[in-house]
Amino acid sequence: MYFLNIVKDLLPRRIRLFLTALRNVGNAILLRRGIGNTLRGVWQTVALSLREIVPSKQTAVTCNLCSWEGAAFYPNFAPSYFERDCTCPQCGAIARYRSLLVLLRIRTDCFHSGRLMLEIAPTDFFQNYCLRHKAKEYLSIDPSRPAILKGNIACLPFKGSAFDYVICLHVFGYVRDDYRAASEVSRVLKPRGVAIVQVAIDCSLEKSVEHLFPDRYDCGHIRRYSESDFERLWRGCGFHVQAVSVDDLLPVAVVRRYRLDHKPFLIATKVR
Ligand SMILES: [Zn+2]
Repeated sequence: MYFLNIVKDLLPRRIRLFLTALRNVGNAILLRRGIGNTLRGVWQTVALSLREIVPSKQTAVTCNLCSWEGAAFYPNFAPSYFERDCTCPQCGAIARYRSLLVLLRIRTDCFHSGRLMLEIAPTDFFQNYCLRHKAKEYLSIDPSRPAILKGNIACLPFKGSAFDYVICLHVFGYVRDDYRAASEVSRVLKPRGVAIVQVAIDCSLEKSVEHLFPDRYDCGHIRRYSESDFERLWRGCGFHVQAVSVDDLLPVAVVRRYRLDHKPFLIATKVR
Protein backbone atom coordinates (compact mmCIF):
# COMPACT_ATOMS: atom_id res chain seq x y z
CA MET A 1 0.00 0.00 0.00
CA TYR A 2 2.85 2.34 0.93
CA PHE A 3 4.56 1.60 -2.41
CA LEU A 4 1.31 2.15 -4.32
CA ASN A 5 0.88 5.54 -2.64
CA ILE A 6 4.39 6.57 -3.68
CA VAL A 7 3.69 5.54 -7.29
CA LYS A 8 0.38 7.41 -7.21
CA ASP A 9 2.09 10.57 -5.94
CA LEU A 10 4.45 10.51 -8.93
CA LEU A 11 1.60 10.57 -11.45
CA PRO A 12 0.44 13.90 -12.93
CA ARG A 13 -2.38 15.46 -10.93
CA ARG A 14 -5.02 15.06 -13.65
CA ILE A 15 -4.31 11.33 -13.96
CA ARG A 16 -4.64 11.05 -10.18
CA LEU A 17 -8.00 12.81 -10.33
CA PHE A 18 -9.17 10.28 -12.90
CA LEU A 19 -7.96 7.35 -10.79
CA THR A 20 -9.75 8.78 -7.75
CA ALA A 21 -12.90 9.20 -9.86
CA LEU A 22 -12.76 5.55 -10.95
CA ARG A 23 -12.12 4.39 -7.38
CA ASN A 24 -15.21 6.30 -6.28
CA VAL A 25 -17.29 4.57 -8.93
CA GLY A 26 -16.07 1.24 -7.56
CA ASN A 27 -16.93 2.30 -4.00
CA ALA A 28 -20.40 3.44 -5.08
CA ILE A 29 -21.08 0.09 -6.72
CA LEU A 30 -19.85 -1.79 -3.63
CA LEU A 31 -21.96 0.37 -1.29
CA ARG A 32 -24.87 0.40 -3.76
CA ARG A 33 -25.18 4.06 -2.96
CA GLY A 34 -24.24 7.38 -4.55
CA ILE A 35 -23.84 5.97 -8.04
CA GLY A 36 -25.51 9.10 -9.47
CA ASN A 37 -22.99 11.32 -7.64
CA THR A 38 -20.00 9.40 -8.88
CA LEU A 39 -21.15 9.16 -12.49
CA ARG A 40 -21.87 12.90 -12.50
CA GLY A 41 -18.39 13.47 -11.07
CA VAL A 42 -16.70 11.31 -13.70
CA TRP A 43 -18.65 13.01 -16.48
CA GLN A 44 -17.69 16.50 -15.24
CA THR A 45 -14.03 15.47 -14.82
CA VAL A 46 -13.91 14.20 -18.41
CA ALA A 47 -15.77 17.23 -19.80
CA LEU A 48 -13.52 19.74 -18.00
CA SER A 49 -10.37 17.90 -19.12
CA LEU A 50 -11.50 18.06 -22.74
CA ARG A 51 -12.35 21.73 -22.34
CA GLU A 52 -8.80 22.43 -21.12
CA ILE A 53 -7.37 21.13 -24.39
CA VAL A 54 -8.57 24.32 -26.03
CA PRO A 55 -6.71 27.19 -24.33
CA SER A 56 -8.85 30.17 -23.48
CA LYS A 57 -7.85 33.65 -22.37
CA GLN A 58 -11.07 34.00 -20.41
CA THR A 59 -10.76 32.52 -16.95
CA ALA A 60 -13.40 32.42 -14.25
CA VAL A 61 -11.54 30.87 -11.32
CA THR A 62 -8.11 31.08 -9.69
CA CYS A 63 -6.43 28.77 -7.18
CA ASN A 64 -4.77 30.77 -4.41
CA LEU A 65 -2.41 27.91 -3.57
CA CYS A 66 -0.80 27.43 -6.98
CA SER A 67 -2.13 30.37 -9.10
CA TRP A 68 -3.75 28.04 -11.66
CA GLU A 69 -6.48 29.78 -13.66
CA GLY A 70 -9.24 28.23 -15.71
CA ALA A 71 -12.90 28.08 -16.61
CA ALA A 72 -13.89 25.98 -13.58
CA PHE A 73 -12.47 23.74 -10.89
CA TYR A 74 -13.02 20.00 -11.11
CA PRO A 75 -15.64 18.29 -8.93
CA ASN A 76 -14.82 16.71 -5.58
CA PHE A 77 -17.02 13.72 -5.03
CA ALA A 78 -17.56 10.36 -3.40
CA PRO A 79 -20.66 8.21 -2.98
CA SER A 80 -21.87 10.32 -0.01
CA TYR A 81 -21.13 13.83 -1.29
CA PHE A 82 -20.71 15.93 -4.42
CA GLU A 83 -18.99 19.32 -4.52
CA ARG A 84 -19.10 21.03 -7.88
CA ASP A 85 -16.36 23.45 -8.99
CA CYS A 86 -14.08 22.46 -6.09
CA THR A 87 -10.76 20.71 -6.93
CA CYS A 88 -7.79 22.48 -8.53
CA PRO A 89 -6.55 20.28 -11.41
CA GLN A 90 -3.00 21.57 -11.00
CA CYS A 91 -2.24 21.25 -7.26
CA GLY A 92 -5.28 19.27 -6.09
CA ALA A 93 -6.44 21.85 -3.52
CA ILE A 94 -10.11 21.60 -2.64
CA ALA A 95 -12.25 24.58 -1.67
CA ARG A 96 -11.88 24.26 2.10
CA TYR A 97 -8.09 24.51 1.83
CA ARG A 98 -8.29 27.59 -0.37
CA SER A 99 -10.48 29.05 2.40
CA LEU A 100 -8.03 27.90 5.07
CA LEU A 101 -5.22 29.74 3.33
CA VAL A 102 -7.27 32.94 3.20
CA LEU A 103 -8.05 32.62 6.90
CA LEU A 104 -4.42 31.97 7.85
CA ARG A 105 -3.14 34.84 5.72
CA ILE A 106 -5.68 37.38 6.98
CA ARG A 107 -6.34 36.37 10.58
CA THR A 108 -2.98 34.94 11.73
CA ASP A 109 0.75 35.56 11.46
CA CYS A 110 1.53 31.87 11.02
CA PHE A 111 3.52 32.43 7.82
CA HIS A 112 5.79 34.94 9.53
CA SER A 113 9.31 33.86 10.35
CA GLY A 114 9.67 32.22 13.76
CA ARG A 115 6.12 30.87 13.97
CA LEU A 116 6.07 27.08 14.36
CA MET A 117 3.16 25.27 12.78
CA LEU A 118 1.93 21.69 13.16
CA GLU A 119 -0.63 20.23 10.77
CA ILE A 120 -2.48 17.10 11.82
CA ALA A 121 -3.62 14.79 9.00
CA PRO A 122 -2.17 16.92 6.17
CA THR A 123 -3.07 16.87 2.51
CA ASP A 124 -0.19 16.77 0.04
CA PHE A 125 -1.19 20.03 -1.68
CA PHE A 126 -1.43 22.12 1.50
CA GLN A 127 1.68 20.55 2.97
CA ASN A 128 3.61 21.34 -0.22
CA TYR A 129 2.41 24.95 -0.03
CA CYS A 130 3.52 25.26 3.62
CA LEU A 131 6.89 23.69 2.95
CA ARG A 132 7.46 26.14 0.10
CA HIS A 133 6.68 29.08 2.39
CA LYS A 134 7.82 27.93 5.81
CA ALA A 135 10.36 25.18 5.16
CA LYS A 136 11.82 24.41 8.59
CA GLU A 137 8.97 25.88 10.61
CA TYR A 138 6.28 23.45 9.46
CA LEU A 139 5.70 19.88 10.65
CA SER A 140 2.90 17.47 9.93
CA ILE A 141 1.82 14.25 11.59
CA ASP A 142 -0.49 11.37 10.77
CA PRO A 143 -0.36 7.56 10.89
CA SER A 144 -0.03 7.52 7.08
CA ARG A 145 1.40 9.46 4.15
CA PRO A 146 1.90 12.26 3.17
CA ALA A 147 2.69 13.43 6.72
CA ILE A 148 6.30 14.19 7.62
CA LEU A 149 6.05 12.30 10.93
CA LYS A 150 4.11 9.18 11.78
CA GLY A 151 1.95 9.58 14.84
CA ASN A 152 -1.48 9.88 16.31
CA ILE A 153 -3.40 12.90 17.61
CA ALA A 154 -4.22 10.99 20.80
CA CYS A 155 -0.53 10.90 21.74
CA LEU A 156 1.48 13.61 20.00
CA PRO A 157 5.25 12.97 20.20
CA PHE A 158 6.23 16.52 21.13
CA LYS A 159 7.13 18.24 24.36
CA GLY A 160 4.65 20.75 25.78
CA SER A 161 4.32 24.31 24.44
CA ALA A 162 6.14 23.48 21.19
CA PHE A 163 3.98 25.16 18.53
CA ASP A 164 2.41 28.54 17.81
CA TYR A 165 -0.26 27.05 15.53
CA VAL A 166 -1.96 23.69 15.07
CA ILE A 167 -4.05 23.07 11.95
CA CYS A 168 -6.51 20.21 12.16
CA LEU A 169 -9.24 19.87 9.55
CA HIS A 170 -11.83 17.09 9.47
CA VAL A 171 -10.10 14.84 11.98
CA PHE A 172 -12.27 14.97 15.10
CA GLY A 173 -15.22 13.22 13.44
CA TYR A 174 -13.00 10.13 13.22
CA VAL A 175 -11.49 10.28 16.74
CA ARG A 176 -13.18 8.23 19.47
CA ASP A 177 -11.75 10.14 22.46
CA ASP A 178 -12.11 13.69 21.18
CA TYR A 179 -11.51 15.27 24.62
CA ARG A 180 -8.11 13.59 24.84
CA ALA A 181 -7.26 14.71 21.29
CA ALA A 182 -8.20 18.35 22.00
CA SER A 183 -6.20 18.18 25.25
CA GLU A 184 -3.18 16.96 23.29
CA VAL A 185 -3.53 19.90 20.90
CA SER A 186 -3.66 22.19 23.93
CA ARG A 187 -0.58 20.57 25.49
CA VAL A 188 1.64 21.05 22.41
CA LEU A 189 0.52 24.67 21.86
CA LYS A 190 2.38 27.55 23.44
CA PRO A 191 0.41 29.86 25.79
CA ARG A 192 -1.90 31.98 23.53
CA GLY A 193 -1.21 29.49 20.75
CA VAL A 194 -3.95 28.97 18.21
CA ALA A 195 -5.64 25.88 16.83
CA ILE A 196 -7.52 26.22 13.54
CA VAL A 197 -10.03 23.38 13.44
CA GLN A 198 -12.98 22.30 11.35
CA VAL A 199 -15.27 19.28 11.30
CA ALA A 200 -18.39 18.24 9.46
CA ILE A 201 -21.19 19.80 11.50
CA ASP A 202 -24.89 19.10 11.24
CA CYS A 203 -26.57 22.38 12.21
CA SER A 204 -29.91 20.60 12.67
CA LEU A 205 -28.54 18.60 15.62
CA GLU A 206 -28.86 19.76 19.23
CA LYS A 207 -26.51 17.02 20.41
CA SER A 208 -23.75 15.25 18.51
CA VAL A 209 -24.52 11.77 17.19
CA GLU A 210 -22.04 8.99 18.00
CA HIS A 211 -21.80 5.77 16.00
CA LEU A 212 -20.60 2.50 17.51
CA PHE A 213 -18.59 1.82 14.37
CA PRO A 214 -17.32 4.03 11.52
CA ASP A 215 -20.33 4.88 9.35
CA ARG A 216 -19.40 3.77 5.85
CA TYR A 217 -22.31 5.76 4.46
CA ASP A 218 -20.90 8.92 6.05
CA CYS A 219 -17.26 8.87 4.92
CA GLY A 220 -16.32 6.59 7.84
CA HIS A 221 -17.20 9.13 10.54
CA ILE A 222 -17.79 7.85 14.04
CA ARG A 223 -19.36 11.11 15.14
CA ARG A 224 -21.44 13.87 13.58
CA TYR A 225 -21.09 17.01 15.68
CA SER A 226 -23.67 19.58 16.60
CA GLU A 227 -22.32 23.12 16.37
CA SER A 228 -22.61 23.76 20.13
CA ASP A 229 -20.98 20.45 21.14
CA PHE A 230 -17.90 21.10 19.01
CA GLU A 231 -17.41 24.55 20.49
CA ARG A 232 -18.05 23.19 24.01
CA LEU A 233 -15.34 20.58 23.50
CA TRP A 234 -12.71 23.25 22.88
CA ARG A 235 -13.90 25.56 25.65
CA GLY A 236 -13.70 22.60 28.01
CA CYS A 237 -10.04 22.14 27.09
CA GLY A 238 -9.11 25.73 27.95
CA PHE A 239 -9.64 27.56 24.66
CA HIS A 240 -11.42 30.73 23.70
CA VAL A 241 -13.29 29.97 20.49
CA GLN A 242 -14.50 32.03 17.57
CA ALA A 243 -16.16 30.75 14.40
CA VAL A 244 -14.99 32.60 11.28
CA SER A 245 -16.03 32.16 7.64
CA VAL A 246 -14.29 33.60 4.59
CA ASP A 247 -17.51 35.54 4.02
CA ASP A 248 -16.50 37.64 7.05
CA LEU A 249 -13.08 38.36 5.54
CA LEU A 250 -13.36 39.00 1.80
CA PRO A 251 -15.72 40.67 -0.69
CA VAL A 252 -18.23 38.41 -2.44
CA ALA A 253 -16.46 38.77 -5.82
CA VAL A 254 -13.15 37.49 -4.40
CA VAL A 255 -14.82 34.60 -2.60
CA ARG A 256 -16.44 33.69 -5.91
CA ARG A 257 -13.24 34.03 -7.95
CA TYR A 258 -11.40 31.57 -5.67
CA ARG A 259 -14.53 29.41 -5.26
CA LEU A 260 -13.97 29.43 -1.51
CA ASP A 261 -15.83 27.19 0.88
CA HIS A 262 -18.20 29.18 3.11
CA LYS A 263 -18.25 26.82 6.09
CA PRO A 264 -16.74 28.43 9.19
CA PHE A 265 -13.49 27.43 10.84
CA LEU A 266 -13.13 27.46 14.59
CA ILE A 267 -10.26 29.64 15.77
CA ALA A 268 -9.43 28.22 19.20
CA THR A 269 -6.98 30.31 21.25
CA LYS A 270 -5.33 28.65 24.25
CA VAL A 271 -6.08 30.74 27.31
CA ARG A 272 -5.20 28.30 30.11
ZN1 LIG B 1 -4.03 24.86 -7.24
